[in-house]
Amino acid sequence: MEWRYRCTRCEGLLVPEATTWCCPRCGGVLRIDPPLRLVRDAIDAEDRTLWRYAAALPVARPPRTLGEGLTPLVEGELDGERVRFKLDFLLPTGSFKDRGASVLLAFLAAQGVRRVTVDSSGNAAAAFAAYAALHGLEVSVFAPAGTSPEKIVQARAYGAEVNFVAGQRDTVAAAAQAAGRAPETAYASHNWHPLFVEGTKTWLLEVWEQLGRRWPTACFIPVGGGSLLLGAYLALQALGGNGPALVAAQPEACAPLVRAWTRPDQVLEPVEPGVTLAEGTRIGRPPRGELLLETLRMSGGWPEAVPEPLLIETTRLLWRQGLFVEPTAALGAAAYRLVRRRGWLPGEPVVIVLTGSGLKAAGAVKHMLDQR
Ligand SMILES: [Zn+2]
Repeated sequence: MEWRYRCTRCEGLLVPEATTWCCPRCGGVLRIDPPLRLVRDAIDAEDRTLWRYAAALPVARPPRTLGEGLTPLVEGELDGERVRFKLDFLLPTGSFKDRGASVLLAFLAAQGVRRVTVDSSGNAAAAFAAYAALHGLEVSVFAPAGTSPEKIVQARAYGAEVNFVAGQRDTVAAAAQAAGRAPETAYASHNWHPLFVEGTKTWLLEVWEQLGRRWPTACFIPVGGGSLLLGAYLALQALGGNGPALVAAQPEACAPLVRAWTRPDQVLEPVEPGVTLAEGTRIGRPPRGELLLETLRMSGGWPEAVPEPLLIETTRLLWRQGLFVEPTAALGAAAYRLVRRRGWLPGEPVVIVLTGSGLKAAGAVKHMLDQR
C-alpha cells in the first residue's frame, strides 16, 4: 500500500493495519494520506458498481459484490424549483451506508479479518451485516437496550449476532470496541473508520459523472455522524475543480453542527438529542464533529436545522413524487426548502441526497399516515 493513515489531531503517520480505526497515540480521527486522486481515464466505465472508481479506492475490487453503487440521479421538484435527487435509498440494503460498508469490509476481508464488531441499531448494522455475509465474515452487532426489534431485524436476517447493551451510545460503542480486540477480529465503525468514508465518497463521484462530468452548484446532505458529508469532500479532493457548496441538514432536535456554527469560536459542544422522526441523525456528539465543521467551511457550505413539522411535510411531499424514503432521508430536501424560503438561489444543478428507504421505518410511516 502506498498510502498511510494520518491523524487529524496529532498529525502522526501510521502504517494501516486491519485493527486500526483511530489514532493509537491520541485517539484522534484518522484520514488517508496522501488523499487518493482519481485520474479521469482510470474510471472503469464497464463496471456498473461503485467499484468503477477502484483506482481511487484504498482496496481492490473484491471477487464478489452486491451490485452496489451507480444509483439513479433523477429530476424532481420542490416548491416549483427543479432539483435532482440522488436515490441512495436504492442501494442493496436500502441505505447509503452500503457504500462505506462495502469498501471497509472488502479491505478487512483482504487483510484476513474473520469477524467484525459494529455499534449501530439501524442502517449501518444492516449494511455491515449484508457485506459481511457476502464476504463470509461473522458480524456482531452491539445495539442499545430498548432498540425496537423492527429496527434490528434486517441485520439479523443477514446473519448478524445481536448484543443489547444497557447505557448511553458511548457505552454501546465501548462494548463493540472491546469485542473488536479479539483475535482475527476488527471493530468496523461507520463513525470512525477512515475507509468507511472512502466508500461514501463514491456518491458524489457518481453525481459528477451523471451530470456530464461536472459538479453541481450545491448539495443538501442529511448529517448525523457525517460520513456522507466527509465522503463528499474526499470526492472533491479526488477530482479537484470548483466543487459544490455542501449544506449539512440536521433535525432541530439534534443539531450540534448548527449550534457550533453560531458560536464565535465555532467549538462543537455535545447536545442531548431530542425527539425527532429523523432517528438516523440523533447523534449529539459526532466523533468527527470538528472535521465536519472544517469540511463545511472549506466547501463554502453551512449547516441547517430543520424544524420537525417541515421535516414531516417534506417527507410526505417526496412520497407523493413516488420517492418512498424514511424521514431521516428527507432532511436534505427540507433544508433546501428552508434556504429557498430565505431567498437563496444556488443556481442549477442542485443535488439532494435521499439516504434511506421508507421500507426501513414502517412503524414511523404508519404513525405519520394515521396522524393525517
Ligand atoms: Zn493522533
